[in-house]
Amino acid sequence: QAKHDGRAHFQYFAPEMNVEMLARVQLEHRLRKAVIKSEFYLDYQPIIDMQTGAVSSVEALIRWRDPELGIVSPELFIPIAEETGLIEPLGEWILNQALADLAQWHAQGHLLNLAINVSGRQCIHPTGSDFYQLLRSALTRHNIAPNYLHIEITESMLIDDTPHCLKALKAIRELGIDIYLDDFGTGYSALSYLSQFPISVIKIDKSFIDNATSNQSDAKLVKAIIMMGQSLELPLVAEGIETEAQWQFLQALGCHYAQGYLMSKPLSNHNLIAFLNNETAINRIVNRKALSA
Ligand code: C2E
Ligand code: MG
Ligand code: MG
Ligand code: MG
Repeated sequence: QAKHDGRAHFQYFAPEMNVEMLARVQLEHRLRKAVIKSEFYLDYQPIIDMQTGAVSSVEALIRWRDPELGIVSPELFIPIAEETGLIEPLGEWILNQALADLAQWHAQGHLLNLAINVSGRQCIHPTGSDFYQLLRSALTRHNIAPNYLHIEITESMLIDDTPHCLKALKAIRELGIDIYLDDFGTGYSALSYLSQFPISVIKIDKSFIDNATSNQSDAKLVKAIIMMGQSLELPLVAEGIETEAQWQFLQALGCHYAQGYLMSKPLSNHNLIAFLNNETAINRIVNRKALSA
């Protein structure tokens, strides 16, 4: 009996199961363990106001350190967490950890805003109310006003389950939490969602910024996105700024906020505080950027 079962499984898996599938199964297994054992931490990447050079907000970015695999990229494990439902406990952990850190920065006099990435799976409950309640009670627990919290969503999330998602997002927006549309331009849904959904800010995807100063058609696309944002009265964040030339190009076009390695890579809580306290580092950004305006 046992032998028969074993062979059946063997026959089922052997021909199809390639290295990638094995890796996927192994990763899922390890991810389950990681959620139980809390093998995660958060880095925070500053988002800079392009007018003043001040750190306007930070984006929380999850990191997973597996004892054997080392650091695993969220690009790799977030999709698995979404498919398996692990994103729900993980998302709750992210929210609580990030708000606890935010409360600490506020207590130290750094009145930052905090942006959290949210997956469709987290928001899409039958009534949409679970996620709303989760956000509300977490804010209360950490004694933080809703306007200090932003959530980042993607276009795909808006397409997946429109009515439920719309309901949840409207309630969240009414609470005072701003909704950022992440990776703008990489999805392929109709632009009508920009007025249909309660979006507050658009984040231009890094892939457009990458060649904005070296490729004419990318430059034109970025201009068009910024003009669209301006006519819809939606502020913009440029993501993935790595060079002075990119900064100057975007600032000249009237882009409001910038995020990228030029200003800062994602930082640990400890290094973020050092970054915020380091007036000279911030002033260098402000002065250099202000002068180049
Ligand atoms: P995202 O939300 O678009 O985050 C921005 C990504 O761009 C981050 O990668 C950040 O480190 C990277 N980045 C920012 N500036 C630069 C730059 O100048 N150069 C380069 N090369 N990269 C830059 P990261 O941390 O690897 O995250 C990748 C994606 O994983 C995120 O893209 C987001 O979709 C997802 N993710 C990360 N953390 C979370 C989370 O807490 N929850 C959820 N649901 N997704 C997350
Ligand atoms: Mg994001
Ligand atoms: Mg993004
Ligand atoms: Mg992105």
